[in-house]
Amino acid sequence: MRCCCGCKKKENESVPGTKDTKGAKSVKIVVLLGAPGAGKGTVAQYLLDNYDVVHFSTGNLLRNEVKNDTELGREVSAYVGSGGLVNDDIINKVVELNLAKTLESGSAILLDGYPRSVDQAKFLDQLDSGSLRDAIRIIEIDVESEVVVARLFDRKICSKCGATFGRLDVIAECSRCGGAFVKRPDDEEVVIRRRLQEYKSTTMPVSEYYGSRLLKVNGDRSPDEVARGVTDVFRDFGVKKRR
Ligand code: AMP
Repeated sequence: MRCCCGCKKKENESVPGTKDTKGAKSVKIVVLLGAPGAGKGTVAQYLLDNYDVVHFSTGNLLRNEVKNDTELGREVSAYVGSGGLVNDDIINKVVELNLAKTLESGSAILLDGYPRSVDQAKFLDQLDSGSLRDAIRIIEIDVESEVVVARLFDRKICSKCGATFGRLDVIAECSRCGGAFVKRPDDEEVVIRRRLQEYKSTTMPVSEYYGSRLLKVNGDRSPDEVARGVTDVFRDFGVKKRR
């Protein structure tokens, strides 16, 4: 099984128990919502380590395109580094294409960084003639914006596998693959503030769009505690634990 975003850890790993499940009925998609720095990346890593789930991160997908200098990468690079959002039509197309490939495996999917606007949420709901709608669970990690600014300022990511580490991770290199750390260009304070503003105006309405479909988890706790809150949703949704 290959992670959609090129995450090395998932390459060539099979996903036990999901190989013979095909078609929309067996599909499970968990959408992780939350402000930049709410802890989505950390929670996603915990879930990937512990559950049979494939990570689908639009941020990682786009960063890979930029890194590989593809046509799409050149088109979106100005947005990805500046905290602005990539145009809905472009990101919807990217998601439709890559999600279809990932769905073919029949694996549960952790959707990270998408949808970020109401149009994207509507697009996701109508994919596969609307049959995906009931296969989606939406979790929002809820955090105060000043907590988020402080967290993002201290964040570092692995230049090789894209894993995210925070202030509490006092290590010189990536504990997963040994890669060197880099600061994300969109983690400078001025960019962080712009991203939060963008989040408030564009992405917060997504929570309103989902209404009672949304499950809120308090993100103002340690990453482990937040992750445990999210795993309750996974268990109820029937996503299997990794053995
Ligand atoms: P992330 O790693 O999820 O914070 O995404 C990094 C950057 O990729 C964002 O600041 C956006 O420029 C772009 N991006 C990722 N996902 C989306 C999306 N769903 N809609 C628009 N732009 C996105």
